[in-house]
Amino acid sequence: MTNESRTAVTEEYDVVIVGGGVGGVTVGVFTSRYGLSTLILDRGRSSLGRIAHLENFPGFPAGIDIPTFHKLSHAQAERAGCEITREKAVSAAQTADGFRIETETGDEYATKSLVAAAKYGREWLETLDEGEFLGADGEVDINWEGHKRYGRTSVDGLYFAGRLGTAEDQVVVAAGQAGETALGLIHDVRRDEGLPEDLAAHYTDWVFVEGSIINGDWEEHVRNEFPERVEDADLSEARFEELRSQYVERKVEQAIAPGEQRERRRRGHRRLVEHLDDDAVLDRAAEIEAEMDEY
Ligand SMILES: Cc1cc2nc3c(=O)[nH]c(=O)nc-3n(C[C@H](O)[C@H](O)[C@H](O)COP(=O)(O)OP(=O)(O)OC[C@H]3O[C@@H](n4cnc5c(N)ncnc54)[C@H](O)[C@@H]3O)c2cc1C
Repeated sequence: MTNESRTAVTEEYDVVIVGGGVGGVTVGVFTSRYGLSTLILDRGRSSLGRIAHLENFPGFPAGIDIPTFHKLSHAQAERAGCEITREKAVSAAQTADGFRIETETGDEYATKSLVAAAKYGREWLETLDEGEFLGADGEVDINWEGHKRYGRTSVDGLYFAGRLGTAEDQVVVAAGQAGETALGLIHDVRRDEGLPEDLAAHYTDWVFVEGSIINGDWEEHVRNEFPERVEDADLSEARFEELRSQYVERKVEQAIAPGEQRERRRRGHRRLVEHLDDDAVLDRAAEIEAEMDEY
């Protein structure tokens, strides 16, 4: 990207993800749920789009057609808080605060963290790090030494996810690798926020029913376990208490009441139905009605 072609930055995000396949969407769900403002750019060649019918992703008894899988995963990312735009990334540049990324339509976005999650459509990487990322054959030629886990690269704030990263060429593997990238990114953000190393790396995106993990008071349990999370850190008393409060608050939020679990089940099923074929829904509804009439 040249200075002459640079337009005003339209929006700023904590995370911009290039690619809205299963890899990019997986990262986006995690980063949004953590509270990072996240934009997914999604346009161009797609591996997912070439699959005739996805038979080997858990949770779909008779497989799932790709348009429906794509819509379901995008709806999930949007509900988690991601913005998704049908724009293609064409170039990127490092800035003092992170990166700027430019799209085919000339829009520019600023971001602290940038995730490359599109193997086909990765040419924009040539504009970063003086072309060091792509080898002569167009394959990702990054220096992976010391960066093989959590999707990190030799450039701070730049991550790879899905097929473009280290994932074998299957959708479920791309999702798993991207989940690891998301956790690596979140660990890095937490470290940058000033959390001690062990605490920064202790992050789980869990939801469970109150009382299902320990018998007793959950809040008291997490309050008591906090010291072991920071035992190697040199903290003042005030900082210890501040971090403990944040830790307890987040852990307490993960536990939901049985009534809330039922409500989430109802909402989850309702959202699924919205994406199913109308004829299939009506056929099944007629079957259910007939079954009920028999009683
Ligand atoms: C012919 C074929 C059949 C396959 N069949 C199966 C199968 O049956 N089961 C299975 O598990 N796996 C299968 N795979 C592998 C599977 O498709 C990939 O492992 C998986 O889709 C990788 O996910 P991803 O998110 O990394 O990339 P992709 O699925 O490629 O998603 C990348 C996304 O980024 C977008 N994009 C591209 N360039 C840009 C850009 N510059 N800016 C913004 N957005 C961009 C694309 O539009 C796309 O939506 C198949 C692959 C192929 C090629």
